Amino acid sequence: MYQGSCLCGAVRYQADELGPAVFCHCQRCRKASGSAFASNALVPSDKFRFVEGEDALATFSTPQGVHRVFCGRCGSPLISRRDAMPEAVRLRLGTLDTPIDVRPQAHIFVGSKAEWFDIHDHLPQYAERP
Ligand SMILES: [Zn+2]
Ligand SMILES: [Zn+2]
Repeated sequence: MYQGSCLCGAVRYQADELGPAVFCHCQRCRKASGSAFASNALVPSDKFRFVEGEDALATFSTPQGVHRVFCGRCGSPLISRRDAMPEAVRLRLGTLDTPIDVRPQAHIFVGSKAEWFDIHDHLPQYAERP
């Protein structure tokens, strides 16, 4: 079992398993993370739960039905959910507190990546989704 939390510690979560992980360079992930890319893993919705601080959570939803869930106190991005894909959540790997064996397998949305960041590994790169 994996455990994670937000920056201020108000929110804690558990995940029973981690699915495929990617580095996402899309503009939305860059804005949401404040960095060059987001590191996300898919987790089956029934394998993920908040165990503390659910009252501190805030959600930013888009008209496209993407819901970005973050800590309303410290701003840490935690997961996103999609109306079109209710069976999984996308977990922000940087908020994990326990080590993981999963390693991101690809860079996605490289077509819109920050021009100031150069990718220096040999993972596959996709302009958008694989
Ligand atoms: Zn917090
Ligand atoms: Zn993205």
